[in-house]
Amino acid sequence: MNEVLAKFQGSEGAALAHDTIDVLSGHEIPTSPANYEIWTVHRLGANPALSAEIETRLAKAEPFTSEVNEDLFERYFSNTRLSVQVMEASDGIARELTEAVAAKTLQTAAATFDGGLDPSGFRALVAELTAAARDMADQNLQMSEQMKTSSRQVETLQAALQSVKAQALTDGLTGLANRKYFDETLRRRIQETTAGDGNLCLLMCDIDHFKRVNDSWGHLVGDQVIKFIAHTLRTHAAGDFLAARYGGEEFAIIMPRTELGQAQSIAAAIHGAVRSKRLTRRSTGESLGAITLSIGLAQRREFESVNDLIARADACLYASKRGGRDRITCDGEMDQASAA
Ligand code: GH3
Ligand code: MG
Ligand code: MG
Repeated sequence: MNEVLAKFQGSEGAALAHDTIDVLSGHEIPTSPANYEIWTVHRLGANPALSAEIETRLAKAEPFTSEVNEDLFERYFSNTRLSVQVMEASDGIARELTEAVAAKTLQTAAATFDGGLDPSGFRALVAELTAAARDMADQNLQMSEQMKTSSRQVETLQAALQSVKAQALTDGLTGLANRKYFDETLRRRIQETTAGDGNLCLLMCDIDHFKRVNDSWGHLVGDQVIKFIAHTLRTHAAGDFLAARYGGEEFAIIMPRTELGQAQSIAAAIHGAVRSKRLTRRSTGESLGAITLSIGLAQRREFESVNDLIARADACLYASKRGGRDRITCDGEMDQASAA
């Protein structure tokens, strides 16, 4: 190789270049880089097959047309055509192999039949066919094992994804839907309602004088109270209702396809369940005193936006607070906050 390279250097290299160009013009071959490469390599004797082909053509006085030149370059110097051919061929080979493997055993069997069968030949043939069938069964088994493994991996990934999604949408302390999940669900439910899916009610509630609980019993006990409220809400949020932690000690329930009357019953059940529960401090058994909720309830009006509905339910909740807490205020009774 180095020997060949040396021939391109110095005066020898320059002479080779001039000679090559002379030869090219002598045969009326354009001095393109491709043709120059063909003829330099030929003159150096670096590719015997190429040289043999050129010599034959020269001996027969066949002209070096542009097709001939391109063909020589393509075959000896460029891989483009080769790559395409290899790709096409390998596709075909793969197809033929698959067919051939399947056909081979049967062909052999058929040929054996054609030749007539004695009992021992018949036994051998049956053994061969049985082995082939077993091979195929083994291959099928392997393939189905691979598919099972792959589908298990997909399931694991889906479960992991599901859990990441769930974590992103769930409140860590209570396990209820978080604010993001609440906003998204309310928006979606309202779209459905607009599409003619009936009534939708929104319940919002807030723990009364919760600061006192924290102050008297400490934050950890406060957390337990929040968990208890969350549990109560979850118990009453059946079907496609969504109970959410809206903020610190504020919660909400989205009630799709629910009349105001039904929503009021559910609100009353939640309100009663919370205030009737006697909560105690686990370590000492001391009573925490009554925990109560202020609740606001609004039924969505036609064409009302998400924000307007939330604002109205919130206004009902604050009407409950203003009215003395521990009560439910409904749509339309804002001025006469009703004691539950
Ligand atoms: P109101 O009846 O007007 O609602 O009075 P409140 O004391 O409940 O309301 P306020 O807004 O004054 O206080 C709410 C308290 O809730 C203050 C805050 O520290 C507490 N809080 C919010 N989130 C958490 C929590 O995750 N854990 C605990 N322990 N306390 C919380
Ligand atoms: Mg509050
Ligand atoms: Mg509060």
